[in-house]
Amino acid sequence: MQILTNPSDSVGAESESWQKTMRTAIRDVKSLRKRLNLPPDPTAAGAADSFELFAPLPFVDRIKPGDESDPLLLQLLPTAAEEQSPAHFLADPLQESDASLSTGVLKKYAGRALLIVTGACAIHCRYCFRRHFPYSDNSASGADLQDALTAIADDDSVEEVILSGGDPLTVVDQTLSNLIASLESIPHVRRIRIHTRLPIMIPSRVTDVFVELLKHSPLEKVVVIHANHANEFDADVAEALSKLKSTGATLLNQTVLLKGVNDDAQKLIELSKRLLSVGVMPYYLHQLDQVIGAAHFEVPEETGKRLITEMRAALPGFAVPRYVREIPGEPNKTVLA
Ligand code: SF4
Repeated sequence: MQILTNPSDSVGAESESWQKTMRTAIRDVKSLRKRLNLPPDPTAAGAADSFELFAPLPFVDRIKPGDESDPLLLQLLPTAAEEQSPAHFLADPLQESDASLSTGVLKKYAGRALLIVTGACAIHCRYCFRRHFPYSDNSASGADLQDALTAIADDDSVEEVILSGGDPLTVVDQTLSNLIASLESIPHVRRIRIHTRLPIMIPSRVTDVFVELLKHSPLEKVVVIHANHANEFDADVAEALSKLKSTGATLLNQTVLLKGVNDDAQKLIELSKRLLSVGVMPYYLHQLDQVIGAAHFEVPEETGKRLITEMRAALPGFAVPRYVREIPGEPNKTVLA
């Protein structure tokens, strides 16, 4: 097995472009609200302290100014509601700390290992189930990467490696190239799956270098994006997804059912139609994981089931995502409808 860990990036103009967009993301509530013509909200300080705001400008530009209830804004704006958390909302709702195979490697399901490539993301989703995850002790980066790859190489039941985080596409192309080459050299690894929001947050992240890298990998490739509302798509996102599709990767989407964002059948139907129009199959509709700070986003399961029924009446079967919840310790996700 070849293990490469030197992350010197081949910095071209396109690489500089997305990295600059990461660096210029809005990180404080006051600036974001001012940019969107919203009045100051001093009550949000506690929430922003516990989980920093991170809002990249290409996504912010899709938010309607002056609208406190914009479905994209709600996903990233810290609010005082995050500090009202019922006791059954937990820091590690999926008990992921029990599923560690090695530092930065989780094995929750048969045949699959999840590699935590980084703790960095291109957005801080307020409902994220890993918002309290101790990334500094649990990422397969630096010296821990070699141990992580060895753990995967030593477990010949692992056919699929899920690159996760954080968002693995916040890592530069050269590092991804080295990582994918290392996985290609493990005989029992057949497939990589990349979980990412970056093609939506910062479409320029889908660089030509990354596209060529995926295109030429002999592994089977699946890219799972994460979109919650049709307004997240614009021409640049569609182009990024089209480039990803050209690599031969299967493109899937996962959505989290979120109060105020998409708990409405018409919104979910519109999202499915938009996904299909850009070549992405609706995959999962997740029931919210009960993480501290996200209780105000929770939608009752009965509502979720009704929404799926309404989607089924309006869409072909392949356009209706599976409505699921993850229950810690279960051998697979639990289908709710
Ligand atoms: S992009 Fe994914 S990992 Fe990052 S904050 Fe959002 S939900 Fe969490």
